[in-house]
Amino acid sequence: MNILVINAGSSSLKYQLLNPETGDLLAKGLCERIGIDGKFTYKPQLAGKETLDAIDVAMPTHSEAIQAVLDALVDAKNGVIGSMKEIDAVGHRVVHGGEKFASSVLITDEVMAAIEECNPLAPLHNPANIIGIKACQALMPGTPMVAVFDTAFHQTMPPKAYMYALPYAYYENDKVRRYGFHGTSHKYVSGRAAAMLGKKPEELKLVSCHLGNGSSIAAVDGGKSVDTSMGFTPLAGLPMGTRAGDLDAGILQYLMNKYGMNIDEMLNILNKKSGVEGLSCVSSDFRDLENAANSGDEKAKLAEEKFAYEVKKYVGAYAAAMGGVDAIIFTAGVGENDKGIRAMVCEGLEYMGVKLDAEANKGRGKELVISAADSKVKVLLIPTNEELMIAQDTAAIVKG
Ligand code: ADP
Repeated sequence: MNILVINAGSSSLKYQLLNPETGDLLAKGLCERIGIDGKFTYKPQLAGKETLDAIDVAMPTHSEAIQAVLDALVDAKNGVIGSMKEIDAVGHRVVHGGEKFASSVLITDEVMAAIEECNPLAPLHNPANIIGIKACQALMPGTPMVAVFDTAFHQTMPPKAYMYALPYAYYENDKVRRYGFHGTSHKYVSGRAAAMLGKKPEELKLVSCHLGNGSSIAAVDGGKSVDTSMGFTPLAGLPMGTRAGDLDAGILQYLMNKYGMNIDEMLNILNKKSGVEGLSCVSSDFRDLENAANSGDEKAKLAEEKFAYEVKKYVGAYAAAMGGVDAIIFTAGVGENDKGIRAMVCEGLEYMGVKLDAEANKGRGKELVISAADSKVKVLLIPTNEELMIAQDTAAIVKG
């Protein structure tokens, strides 16, 4: 079985063709500058097939982008499948499913209408996801399409976790609540954690730390998300590459009044100029922070410490929320690669049974237990694979 996974943005589109049963990747790539000058990248994973790297392909709309993907996949010379019939289904990443979607769904007209109703909750992302779905439907009539939502995994949170202490009417009338994001990643790594530990998901209390350019933490109790650090939008929770994370809302009023900023200018600062980049005055990239900190840059060191401190506080908070924790998972760009941040997070958690193995913690890029053999709480390094999760969900739905 082959599943085409599509992650459509407003001017870009990432794709992978993979086998959900074996996890084998046949090809991946991306279309960039859609609606501008069109750049197409295609990376077949089969021996003897040639990569195309950011070549010019006219892509006035997402339709031409998806057509370029399909043409490349079935190309006589460098393609990886014989015909489009070998694509059994398409899995689409959709950022926001609101309260309507607690799991992945087969896309029907009603589902499309319901996704469109979620557009106001993710105005920068959902409309682009919908354009990608429509373009695929037009080019691949008869191929089943499935929507996989970033928010769905967190729909199991109880009201005490997802409600804000605002006037209740803002929830009832305006759907203002915590939704959480990165759900596909948290679901994937928590499933892998259970497999690594030889346990059923129902038996485990996990803290899943997705630490990348955007970062979030989820408390996963018995296989279900019961709390997560991102909120109504992905701006909440941890400090991130350039996002501030949680802060006192009173700061907005103070700075806006003082500098005559409007709300868009303020949010631009909170989304794009804050986080570890804002704090360090160096970079949003943790590799740059580490280099700078090693050369004695105090602000870079502070940014690393602040980030690790906030992650640690969430680990403690979620252990309290779940009444214990069996394993802490590190995933995504920083979580998978940055041994220094992992060590800083775990340091001082010995009292709750966390004991990192310094040697094992040097590992990266593969599934590893990085805690000591006698650590009561296991610490796991698990590379995330959102595309595989999307493909597996899609396959499960298509097979019924
Ligand atoms: P995104 O949220 O964009 O999907 P990723 O999960 O790919 O982000 O994470 C990207 C981030 O991972 C980079 O900005 C960088 O900070 C961090 N990163 C990647 N490789 C390393 C590394 N070897 N050491 C430390 N940090 C790394």
